Amino acid sequence: MTEINLPIEFKEALPILERIIEAGHEAYFVGGSVRDLILGHKIHDVDVATSAFPEEVKQIFPRTIDVGIEHGTVLVLDKEHQYEVTTFRTESTYQDYRRPDEVVFVRSLEEDLKRRDFTMNALAMTTNGDIIDLFNGIKAIEDRVIVAVGDAFERFNEDALRMMRALRFSSQLDFEIESHTKMAILNNHELLSKIAIERIYVEWVKLLMGDSREKGLRAFVETKCHTQCPNLEMKEFELMAFSKINPLMKLDSEEIAWLCLFIALDVTSAKTFLSPWKVSKKLSQVTQDALVMYSKRLDSDWTADMLYHSGVDVISLVEQARAFFGLAYNVEASLELYQSLPIKQLKDLNITGSELAKELGKTPGPWLGKLLKKLEANVLHEDIENTYVELVNTAKKEGNRDDSL
Ligand code: ATP
Ligand code: MG
Repeated sequence: MTEINLPIEFKEALPILERIIEAGHEAYFVGGSVRDLILGHKIHDVDVATSAFPEEVKQIFPRTIDVGIEHGTVLVLDKEHQYEVTTFRTESTYQDYRRPDEVVFVRSLEEDLKRRDFTMNALAMTTNGDIIDLFNGIKAIEDRVIVAVGDAFERFNEDALRMMRALRFSSQLDFEIESHTKMAILNNHELLSKIAIERIYVEWVKLLMGDSREKGLRAFVETKCHTQCPNLEMKEFELMAFSKINPLMKLDSEEIAWLCLFIALDVTSAKTFLSPWKVSKKLSQVTQDALVMYSKRLDSDWTADMLYHSGVDVISLVEQARAFFGLAYNVEASLELYQSLPIKQLKDLNITGSELAKELGKTPGPWLGKLLKKLEANVLHEDIENTYVELVNTAKKEGNRDDSL
């Protein structure tokens, strides 16, 4: 096996490439991992490109999964790892500004690299660690610029999502978008309307979560791509102002990224805002709850009721958002307060509804929910202990006081 000084992620994948080569084909490391190696960043997934056709790849390895065979990608399973091995391909005739009409497998690495989005992403590396750089990708990485491969205008017309990718890479890598490429984005930004919102969303969230959010957001507004994103169309000033808030604080989850955006944009309903973005119900709910609680917390310290109705996720989001906007915050202390609540949910009461009904000799009805709410509040505010006996006694007293119970 070749002995070279590559990061472990590449070394572990070397036998895969070597087996393809032994079978008479070409195989290279490609894409983001080679870029990240040059940048000295952490390597995520190591992708492999090969001249072998998918059927040939499948014959070489005993354990494979067809993940995207029509695009030429075969997942090769190797011990605890898995690698995407993709056949060299070109993408001919794009007619709808998104996916290619037809993927054509080819035997030439050059053809494959030509169809990639940016020069920094169009590098290949051999098993010896030699880098094949047909489009000056290394220089672009050294100059920290994002440059389209070939004619930028054409490339964004082929696949408009590439424009959003340029913006998110700018935010993630702290790279500028080279002037021709940027001009081509400005000229073509309307083509983003052809792209499914789910795909734009992935890139947008990566942009918000990037280390250089300020840079990415500025480019996003300057190229007018915001005009193609739901509920951001008219928000250029707000987005620019948002980009300048606490630029060194990373927004390291999708939830906190959206929440801070909503606060900066004075959004009152996260749910309404997010509806055209087609996000999960869970994300929509948690950001909505956090938005409401953030605003309550502006006027008050955490109360038992606020903590109880928030729960861990919302409390932590609200405190992080306070940090972002330069307000006093303490995530841990707030979570400790929450942990010290006598109950965290209704079912933590030491009595059930049917037990209560039995103790009071009544048949369950609307009164029961009302009574449970009273007991819940009493326990939460530490007016009574959460014991069966005290809950029954309190229930009886409440019943005597209020005829509807
Ligand atoms: P990340 O670190 O975010 O994964 P990446 O560069 O690996 O970055 P991927 O989306 O994983 O990005 O894509 C892998 C490679 O496939 C890219 O480096 C690029 O060469 C190519 N690629 C991905 N999407 C496109 C696209 N829309 N048009 C052209 N090439 C693309
Ligand atoms: Mg990748």
